[in-house]
Amino acid sequence: MERDGPSVRLGNGIEVAYGDTTFFLDPRKVTAEGVCCVSHAHSDHMPSSFAGGPIHCSDITLRCMRGRVKSKRSKNYLEDPERNNSPLVEASGAGHILGSNMFMLDAGQRVLYTGDLCPQSRLGIEGARPQKCDVLIIEATYGDPRYRFPDRREMIRVIHDWVEDMLDQGYSAVLHAYPLGKSQELITMLRDLRPRLHGSVLETTRMMEADDLRFDYLPFDPEDLDPQLVISPGAWGENGLSVLRKKRSADVSGWCLGTGGRSGGRIGWGMDQGFAYSDHADFYELLDFIDRCDPSVVYTHHGSEGTLAQEIQGRLGITAIPLTREKKGQTNLGRYC
Ligand SMILES: [Zn+2]
Repeated sequence: MERDGPSVRLGNGIEVAYGDTTFFLDPRKVTAEGVCCVSHAHSDHMPSSFAGGPIHCSDITLRCMRGRVKSKRSKNYLEDPERNNSPLVEASGAGHILGSNMFMLDAGQRVLYTGDLCPQSRLGIEGARPQKCDVLIIEATYGDPRYRFPDRREMIRVIHDWVEDMLDQGYSAVLHAYPLGKSQELITMLRDLRPRLHGSVLETTRMMEADDLRFDYLPFDPEDLDPQLVISPGAWGENGLSVLRKKRSADVSGWCLGTGGRSGGRIGWGMDQGFAYSDHADFYELLDFIDRCDPSVVYTHHGSEGTLAQEIQGRLGITAIPLTREKKGQTNLGRYC
């Protein structure tokens, strides 16, 4: 006999309640009042305060949170928190960034929370695998039919070729990417071109490293101005790179998606090139993932949640409900990371 489903709503992150248990998914505040699960340490998913109680997260996410929190209380909590202790939670890789997790919850029914996800394996990151569930709570960053990404393996070749071309022509190549996740993918895909890391990309990469995780790079050195590959945060992170007089810059982001797919489209802040390389599922990957999970109901969050919910109902015939913010300040769920 089918059991009753849980309630799902926005509150302290996404709250899933069943019987006496409440799960807090990517909560703003980690608390002992429920089972807290943190998918990854991007700012729109990471808690901003830690009031105690156990937490579910990966080792990499824990290291990143330690490096990113400011308050002494939070640092103390993250020193050695009780972790991954609830038998009602089962974590698996979300394929978004290194250490990002999905969580299968036993909440009367099987509830899968994806956080941000990417189904395509690449560069040592295993893609998210669909799992049969009754309730699916899925991200909607690119949950609109206009988003179809080029194959990531092809994009890796395109980006590598562009950097090589720039270096051959005597330019420094500056790639802009967000510091946690995308930058480490670039370090791995371009390691033969000796990447130098600038600003928060360097800090974040060091934060992630441990005995079982090392990257091959050099810090950016303003005294060494030979043509070189530099990985830097967004365009605002060019501070300090003006010493490289002969350089070409490129944005690496899913938001660079243009009519040609490969590049062009929205290129940020005076850059020379844009590469539509994303660590999120595009619309069609989201639909395929949902179809394979075969849920009875889907909740969408983060981004195009309304559009994605409509499309799920129209194309897959599955009940879909967007989780939208009802009033300002209700949740820390942001636009995208
Ligand atoms: Zn993310």
